[in-house]
Amino acid sequence: MNVATALTAYDFDEIDRISREDLAAMARTIDEERVYAEDIMRAYGKAGAYGTHLGGIDGDVDLSSAVMAMARASEECLSTGFCVWCQDTLAWYIASSDNGYLKSEILPKIVAGDSLGGTGMSNPMKAMGEIEKMRLQGERVAGGYKVKGMLPWVSNLLEDGYFGSMFHVEVEGADEPKRVMAIFHAAWDGIKIKLDHDFVAMGGTATVNVQCRDVFVPDEFILGDPAGEFIQRIRPGFTLLQCGMAAGIIKNCIDLMKQVEGPLGHINQYLDKQPADIEAEYNALVADVLEMCKTPYDLSDAFYLRVLKARLKGGELAMEAAHWAQLHMGARGYVSRGAAQRRLREAYFVGIVTPATKHLKMLISKLEAAQAA
Ligand SMILES: Cc1cc2nc3c(=O)[nH]c(=O)nc-3n(C[C@H](O)[C@H](O)[C@H](O)COP(=O)(O)OP(=O)(O)OC[C@H]3O[C@@H](n4cnc5c(N)ncnc54)[C@H](O)[C@@H]3O)c2cc1C
Repeated sequence: MNVATALTAYDFDEIDRISREDLAAMARTIDEERVYAEDIMRAYGKAGAYGTHLGGIDGDVDLSSAVMAMARASEECLSTGFCVWCQDTLAWYIASSDNGYLKSEILPKIVAGDSLGGTGMSNPMKAMGEIEKMRLQGERVAGGYKVKGMLPWVSNLLEDGYFGSMFHVEVEGADEPKRVMAIFHAAWDGIKIKLDHDFVAMGGTATVNVQCRDVFVPDEFILGDPAGEFIQRIRPGFTLLQCGMAAGIIKNCIDLMKQVEGPLGHINQYLDKQPADIEAEYNALVADVLEMCKTPYDLSDAFYLRVLKARLKGGELAMEAAHWAQLHMGARGYVSRGAAQRRLREAYFVGIVTPATKHLKMLISKLEAAQAA
């Protein structure tokens, strides 16, 4: 069953209206004053933005509408576009699991935007890639796990929100700890969240440090135990959805360049990249992404490699498009109210959020080496 059809109809015209009227008017405040657009995040839920990609592993699944809604938000404001990704990804974890309790009790609230939340998977993904150590440690207790540790950043998270993450559990006699993935509720005993705004952009993302002190995670909240197979299941969709952020910011940068064609075209024509050049690459990327959106549970290495390459291209093109938007706009884009300088700061986030450019290059290089062997 598609949760969206059951709960909230997808209304792209309304998502477009919210983005054009409400979000565009707030984008500068969100950036400068680090305001989290909570009402807008909830309104997107009412417009069905978070519910179209949730048919589950045996269902009818297409990520296209989720990507397009996220792109529309990101076109105006990447902080909010990223929060849409956080919400979509939280829902994606639950819908992709075999956990009936989470699907019936928690997922509907996330789809409707009544509960907001995100994902603390950067550290686990880097730990699985042996880039850094796993930060959360768990211990089996009656009816669940007791978890401790700290996640430095989880976005779109309020005091009563949910997030997905992973912890290590030492297993007697085993060489390696077991990985367990679960949904956490920020209001549980032992969890403390603290806002972190110390960024050059993306301050409107409700990004918090999450401290876990002997937090009890009940069995009903487990997504994968051990998590290996579940991770294989969710990783193409997790990564592909992020292309929505890239698509939105690239499109806006192309529009910014076009806006100054009249007054500045006579001189901007000497710049190495023109809006049409970026647009051709953008169109090719979006076509590739939307095609892959139809099969997000393709678990083959070949498909994952294609997803990783599209995600890498999305980050690189976002940073490049923002660079050319700034040069085309000139001083108009460099003043504090100018969109180009904000887009430039935001675009680098697409290149550094997990999987970051360097992480993607490592994964691509390892997968290509395995295929060649
Ligand atoms: C605005 C924002 C929102 C984010 N939201 C989320 C989220 O919702 N969920 C999530 O899981 N992750 C989130 N992250 C983390 C993000 O996904 C990446 O993990 C992060 O940007 C670093 O990735 P990297 O691969 O470039 O690692 P690197 O930056 O190369 O390395 C990261 C390592 O450096 C350490 N480090 C970080 N800051 C400092 C510092 N100031 N001084 C010294 N060491 C430092 C970290 O502890 C970590 O071990 C967010 C990051 C930002 C900036």
